[in-house]
Amino acid sequence: MTTFDQTELAVCVVCLHLLANGEFNDGTDAAQTAVTGMYRIWGFNVRHLSADGAELGFSTWPCEGCGDTDHGDRYRAFALIPTRRGDQA
Ligand SMILES: [Zn+2]
Repeated sequence: MTTFDQTELAVCVVCLHLLANGEFNDGTDAAQTAVTGMYRIWGFNVRHLSADGAELGFSTWPCEGCGDTDHGDRYRAFALIPTRRGDQA
């Protein structure tokens, strides 16, 4: 049986789209910047992130997905990290 360490996150709209749809395209490099940020923060655990899209409202805190410090609307996401002992990647 696998147990999970679940953490609730507040992520920016770019992370929301990346986690929910696997892509975000606004004609800028925002998506690439967010992906880079997510890997820097989460490493291989980035594949355990998912978003349900619930609106959390405007926030001045950095995005907890990619670390982006722009203020803006945040959306709910979850990190569901398996915690099986002795099986650390
Ligand atoms: Zn983000």
